[in-house]
Amino acid sequence: MIPYGRQDISQEDIDAVVAVLKSDFLTQGPLVAEFESNLSAHIGADHAVAVNSATSALHIACLALGLGPGDTLWTSPITFVASANAALYCGADVDFVDIDPETFNMCPIALAEKLEAAERDGKLPKIVVPVALCGQSCDMKSIKKLSEKYGFRILEDASHAIGARYAGSYVGSGEFSDISVFSFHPVKIITTAEGGVATTNDPILAQKMRLLRSHGVTRDPSLMNREPDGPWYYQQVELGFNYRMTELQAALGVSQMKRLDRFVERRAKHARNYDEALADLPLELPKQSPETASSWHLYVIRVLDSKHHKELFESLRSRGIGVNLHYIPVHTQPYYQKLGFQKGSFPQAEDYYARAMSIPLYAQMKVEDQKSVIDAIQELV
Ligand SMILES: *Cc1c(COP(=O)(O)O)cnc(C)c1O
Repeated sequence: MIPYGRQDISQEDIDAVVAVLKSDFLTQGPLVAEFESNLSAHIGADHAVAVNSATSALHIACLALGLGPGDTLWTSPITFVASANAALYCGADVDFVDIDPETFNMCPIALAEKLEAAERDGKLPKIVVPVALCGQSCDMKSIKKLSEKYGFRILEDASHAIGARYAGSYVGSGEFSDISVFSFHPVKIITTAEGGVATTNDPILAQKMRLLRSHGVTRDPSLMNREPDGPWYYQQVELGFNYRMTELQAALGVSQMKRLDRFVERRAKHARNYDEALADLPLELPKQSPETASSWHLYVIRVLDSKHHKELFESLRSRGIGVNLHYIPVHTQPYYQKLGFQKGSFPQAEDYYARAMSIPLYAQMKVEDQKSVIDAIQELV
């Protein structure tokens, strides 16, 4: 099976991880800080807080932004469930904003309309979570303008988008968001096996997230409510978690970062090959907005008529092409249906789900493998 995504592990990556195993620190050593400073330098954000997953990063980002019971977070229905679950972890409510059918990202017009209605009802969201689906940034300029008008905070779920650019800077640089979150799961652009990071330009948000990832415990006297009892002293000042990244993961991350630009270039090249080879088929190919340069985590094709969707998906799978579907609209999940969400409420998201599939795309995809994918699609569509 040609998978829809796959990690690229070099001998240098392996050596970096093995070196950690032979060193003094398996966790809480120097490599997490090194990985963080490499990330913040590359992305152009002041602070990077590395954690054990993007899900954890979303959770502590919501807490740092003050999300709690009585508050609401809005996100896109076409995302991994973690973007929405983060609000529920904080005891807050979730709602969704329908997608733009061209980019599959949160639609700024739908967002504006929903905000207008929410203001009338006194139910404005505290946080909006735009998701850079497939690695393409959302229309962050419009979302930022709306945040200035309505006073919500922006937590960008950029899990797909490390190395992607928007309006001249890297996604996560903080120009258009309070916090941005990236994932290092093996199918994503670079990997630490499990892992994630939150970037921000706000030193107070960064400090809160650092506390929350490690039990809410500090050894920094400036954060304590009194003089330390002695050099052994630490204080718990918040209710935090153990969301720390290990040194093994950070070593892999530092090593992978060196190839980030190359990974994104190769993904973009594979995407251009698909654009050309599939252009004349009765399919909708992914459209790119002018100010974005995607990291190409996913390449999503859509059949024109939903009645051919399942058949094409099954035929490709039976030929060893590992297509996948990102994502099932979150509001249609049984857990969210129990919370009161109804099918039919986000028609663009549901139309996307009825016609979309992700075809294989990863940095070291072989020319022959891409050719098999293209041949199979050309023959079946
Ligand atoms: C992968 C992903 C996550 C979760 O990332 P983990 O690192 O696996 O926790 C969250 N949101 C989106 C959009 C993702 O693709």
